[in-house]
Amino acid sequence: MEVAEKKVVGIHYKLTDDDGKVLDTSEGGQPLVFIHGIGMLIPGLEKALVGKSKGDSLKVAVKPEEGYGQRDDNLTQMVDKSQFDNAEEIQIGTQFQVDTPQGALIVMVTEITDNQVKIDGNHPLAGVNLNFDVTIEEVRDATAEELEHGHVHGPGGHNHG
Ligand code: ZN
Repeated sequence: MEVAEKKVVGIHYKLTDDDGKVLDTSEGGQPLVFIHGIGMLIPGLEKALVGKSKGDSLKVAVKPEEGYGQRDDNLTQMVDKSQFDNAEEIQIGTQFQVDTPQGALIVMVTEITDNQVKIDGNHPLAGVNLNFDVTIEEVRDATAEELEHGHVHGPGGHNHG
């Protein structure tokens, strides 16, 4: 069976940047399982997997446009520490949700000065070239229930206990 829209696909993957630094990997854990074609993966990776079968390995280079997008400097902002209830607990890398006119946005603290905190709403991988090493572990039809729920059931997926 080949990877196509609405198949459940399980992959092991390793993600590195252009310097070879490992950004993410499924090694040592469960394969990543997802329903293909409903936007659960970044477009560049999803596209490259179409037509592949269980046991196939491939390398996929994904540009930011088909990954997490380009960085947008408008999404960074300096905020006075006095705006935070818990200013003393904030560290670089702290993430939290803010409400914006466009909806909720996850931001990360990227800089701390004496009086201010810099928050960044860009995805941490925005503007980064992504290099995936992928092995396909599983391809099967999604059940009607999985399609209805929009997620995979069973190992590595959603468990409704
Ligand atoms: Zn479900």
